[in-house]
Parts: sequence; structure tokens; C-alpha cells
Amino acid sequence: MHQPLTDEQICLGHEEDIFGHHGAMMPPIVQTSLFAKQTFEELVAAFAAEDERFVYSRGSNPTVAVLEKKLALLERGEAAKCFSSGMGAISSLFYGLLQSGDHILFVNGIYGPTLQLAKHLQRFGITHDLCLAREAGAIAAMLRPTTRLIYFESPGTMTMQVLDIAALVQVARSRGILTAIDNTWATPLLQKPLTLGVDISLHTGTKYFGGHSDVLGGALITRRELLKPIFSNAYLLNGASLSPQDAWLLIRGLRTLPTRLRQQQADALQVARFLQDHPAVETVFHPALSDSERQLAEKQMSGYSGLFSFTLKNGSFEKICRFLNALRLFRIGVSWGGVESLVISPHNGRNAEALRKKGIPAGLVRLSIGLEGAEALIADLDQALEQTGLLER
Ligand SMILES: *Cc1c(COP(=O)(O)O)cnc(C)c1O
Repeated sequence: MHQPLTDEQICLGHEEDIFGHHGAMMPPIVQTSLFAKQTFEELVAAFAAEDERFVYSRGSNPTVAVLEKKLALLERGEAAKCFSSGMGAISSLFYGLLQSGDHILFVNGIYGPTLQLAKHLQRFGITHDLCLAREAGAIAAMLRPTTRLIYFESPGTMTMQVLDIAALVQVARSRGILTAIDNTWATPLLQKPLTLGVDISLHTGTKYFGGHSDVLGGALITRRELLKPIFSNAYLLNGASLSPQDAWLLIRGLRTLPTRLRQQQADALQVARFLQDHPAVETVFHPALSDSERQLAEKQMSGYSGLFSFTLKNGSFEKICRFLNALRLFRIGVSWGGVESLVISPHNGRNAEALRKKGIPAGLVRLSIGLEGAEALIADLDQALEQTGLLER
């Protein structure tokens, strides 16, 4: 009888128990650190199932639980846990599931701080490798007998390369290795990795979920059986818990995620095509603009978000500085996924070699397309490219 809720309806809160809260259109912010019980026996029982009962807000909180249920529904997962940042989610994944002697294989472009964290894990006997090749055979060749986790991004968030997720899952499953994806680029609206067999999907909510550059948050979505050790070995003990205020901001952000993404997808494609045709631009990295990437993307994603990158011809550090400084509408800054357009380059004038090892061209410029409108953004890029070209000696 009941149709399952659409993603749009879930974002709008149709699964929320609003009449349990006087019909309030937004869930209440339950601003409390602890939950008292009427009897001590009740408290003891709640302690024994702290991942499901409200005891202390470092473990669970009703406002955060509304967001967790929503993300589990969007990702088609059994359960979700939210964190105070994306890195909180990523570190809890590692601390929760890995032990000394284990090996992680990172595949594809990986968010820099995730790899930095992996370096620190070496002190605890957890090793890793980075595989930039994307064919199943090349990935399989880098596995070790001790590989416990394949951690990947698709698309990556620097050069937006797409991995064949089903093929990677097959490699991992045949060897009993867990898989985890940082699904931040696509959001659960455009890609549902758990339905392709991935064990864990994770997000930073700081980017598209919040969408307004006003909140940090993160999330893991997986099976209950895997979330349990992450909850008890890491979530409760790391203390990277999401606050109810921030959970509320993320719930509010998700209300408009489908609409924002539709607009940002369309505008980003228009801007990317303009750049592709511009004589000062060498390569545009957008999954829809390369035949091979697009074929894979269309197999496993239902659309594109607003983050992509490109290289300037002869993109020296000096030239990148001139170009970024000449932009008027794009703000220069880290992060992405908000309503304002942003520009950044991974190049800092000294790290060309380190970038090359990670498969990132030194002349890369990354754009996060906001909601200013494609025409205004194209005009801004056009004038900045012209100014940069004119200044060339
Ligand atoms: C920003 C980012 C993160 C980290 O999220 P925080 O909320 O800043 O901790 C993880 N993965 C990707 C792809 C990101 O862009």
C-alpha cells in the first residue's frame, strides 16, 4: 500500500514524527547533555544498549537521531551515526574497525587529511598504500594478505576521477575485505554506494548537507553489525559527537539539498563547458566531459554535483595566483558545497612534486559552483582569464 518515500520527501522531513512534537515543522533541538531515568534499573538497562537509548549526548541525542535516520534512509543503509566533522567520521571508522597489523588500501584521489591520518596510524602498526590506478586488476595487485579495508573516493575531489564501484566491490568481497567510500562529492542523492555492495558510506556534512558554510558535521552509514564496533570502540570514546544545534542545521540544510544540487549541477556543467572551449585552459576535469568517465558515471550515479577543476595552460604558481586574485565573484577559500562559489588551488608554490605523487597536476584550479548563476560566473572567469593572459610576459 505504502509507497516508499522519495529522496525529496525524506529531505523535506516526511519520515519525521512531527506530531510527536506539536506539529512543529522542524524537530526540536534537544539541548541536553544527559537523560535522567525514573529508576536506576532503567538506567542500567539503557547503558547496556547505549547506541539505541538516550543516556548521554556523547552517545546519542534525539535531534541527532532524526538526522541519522534521515541519512540511513537516503543511503538505503540500515543505520547511520553522525559526527562533529567529516574527519570525526573517518577517524572513528579507522579506530572502530582496524587493529595493529592491518593494512588499508586507498584507491583513487583521496582527501589530504585522510591520508595524513593514515600516516599517524602507522605509529599504531596500521599500514597503508595509495593506488591511483583504477582498473580492478591493478587494485587487486596492490592488496596484501593483511589488507582489511579498501577505502576510496568516487569521484575524487581534486581531479574528479570515477571508479567502477561494482568491480571494486567484487575484488574486495572475493577476499573478505571491507570497503568504505567517501561519498561526499555525489551526496546520497546522486550515488547510493551501499546498493552497489559497498560496506560503509561516509560523508562530511560540512559541504553539501549543510550547504550554507555555517556548520561542520560528518556521518557513517552502514549495517548495524559494523556500526556496533564503531560506536563502542570509537564513537563514544573519540568524543567527536555531533551537537544537537549542529544536527538541526544539517537537517535544515538537507531540506533544500535536492533543489540546490539540481541548480549547481546545471550551472557547473555550463561553466565547465565554457572553460573547455577557452584557449587559456588546458584540461577540464568534470566527469561529464570525458567519454570514459561519463560512461562509468552514468552506470552508477544519477547526476553531477557542482565541484570540478581545470588546469591553466602553463599553469605556474605565479599564474595561478594572478588568476585567482583577478576573480571577483568566486571567493578564495577552502571547503566547498555551499551556496557561494569558491576557488582554490592545491599548489602552494613548493609542492609540485608531492602533488604529482598524488596524481594532481600542479596547475590545478578547483571551482565549487554556488548559486550566483552560470552567466555571472562565466563572465567573472572570462574577465579573470583575459586579465591573466594579458599580464603574461
Ligand atoms: C572536507 C572533506 C572531508 C573532511 O570533512 P570535515 O567536515 O572538514 O572534517 C572529508 N572528505 C572530503 C572529500 C572532504 O572534502
